[in-house]
Amino acid sequence: MLSVNEALAAILERANPLPAEERDLDEALGRVLAEDAVARENLPPFSNSAMDGFAMRASDVAGASAHDPVEIRVLADQPAGSPVSVRVRPGTGVRIMTGAQMPAGADAVVPVEHTAGSGSAVQVLRPVRPGSHVREAGEDVRAGERVAARGQVLRPAELGLLAAIGSVRVRVVRAPVVAVVTTGDELVEAGHMPGPGQIRDANIHSLCAQVRAVGATPVPLPRVRDTHEAVRVALGQAWDAADVIVTNGGVSVGEWDHVRAVLEELGARQVFWGVRQKPGRPMAFWEWNGRLVLGLPGNPVSCMVCFEEYVRPALRKMMGHRLLHRPVRTAALVDGFAKESGDLRTHFLRVVAREEGSRLVVTSTGPQGSGVLSSMVRANALAVVTGESQGVLPGGDVLVHLTELPEDR
Ligand code: AMP
Ligand code: MG
Repeated sequence: MLSVNEALAAILERANPLPAEERDLDEALGRVLAEDAVARENLPPFSNSAMDGFAMRASDVAGASAHDPVEIRVLADQPAGSPVSVRVRPGTGVRIMTGAQMPAGADAVVPVEHTAGSGSAVQVLRPVRPGSHVREAGEDVRAGERVAARGQVLRPAELGLLAAIGSVRVRVVRAPVVAVVTTGDELVEAGHMPGPGQIRDANIHSLCAQVRAVGATPVPLPRVRDTHEAVRVALGQAWDAADVIVTNGGVSVGEWDHVRAVLEELGARQVFWGVRQKPGRPMAFWEWNGRLVLGLPGNPVSCMVCFEEYVRPALRKMMGHRLLHRPVRTAALVDGFAKESGDLRTHFLRVVAREEGSRLVVTSTGPQGSGVLSSMVRANALAVVTGESQGVLPGGDVLVHLTELPEDR
């Protein structure tokens, strides 16, 4: 059986970045740029006013004051979005709006607050420095400049800047399509009333949401009965539909656990089955004709934790991200954790993490059974008691994965 680190390495080794594709800007949030984005134009494209006021020659009003205003003749109104019609000559100016193109001949804008009067003449009450309140063409981005680099994640700011320079389609790394297959005769749709012995399928929802949260595309497949044939059909559909297949349940050693046997029969190559961890021991991983298949255990907490620790970084790697892992911190584990001697498993504990002064303190969310989904709801981090650890005394140090913060390594 593999250690947690070995299992993660085996998965990441086989998760390769997908090819690039072209997307509209509005469909590119969170994607990784597949090539440098270079501006073909200046931004702003023309020099324009940063204030509502009057465009003029700074030298004309060098001596202006409230006691001794300088009168400037207003030649025209220059609203934003219109071409410039006049040229500013000594003693003249243009009434200008924020964002409107600067008229030729003017080198500064006097804000309306520093003037008096209206109509065809204006009294300037203060001097202005050349260039004041003028945004020069290209002062934000110069034509030919790289505005975002290959490998960079597109955030709202990058999308806005790309739009501003007219890059409405971008080449980004494709995001994986992930088929999610839940198995179990006991499962019914969440919207249905379970019959005797039945429970609702929680995991299809948590898993698809986890896929979506990474920025990949989930394809929930119809729930699968615990028969060899049903599992075979479902896996075939999953292979057709997706880059990555996440199966849920049916990977233990029970008589109704068909996923392993079927995958083997279909020619999948098992990379591993079983990880020295709790929860999630029966997790499995196959390569199957160009698809990655992650077999997650059915217990609702196990499957979410395995997704978080293994599937999420793998999907991120496929999406071209450089940062694959959540922040790791050392924290004081208030409750401590007793480990039996000879227990070589890594334990992932659901905890609530909070800052206390300069240190991070984590508290268990309570019962840690792998079916206790409510404790997942209360948690904001996973404390990791490693395989080598002999346990943690109350208040002792433990590593913590901050599962609600963006990846930083
Ligand atoms: P399995 O891994 O299939 O043996 O399932 C382990 C436990 O998780 C059993 O108690 C199942 O009833 C439960 N379980 C499996 N799949 C789901 C699911 N999709 N939603 C909720 N519970 C599940
Ligand atoms: Mg099952």
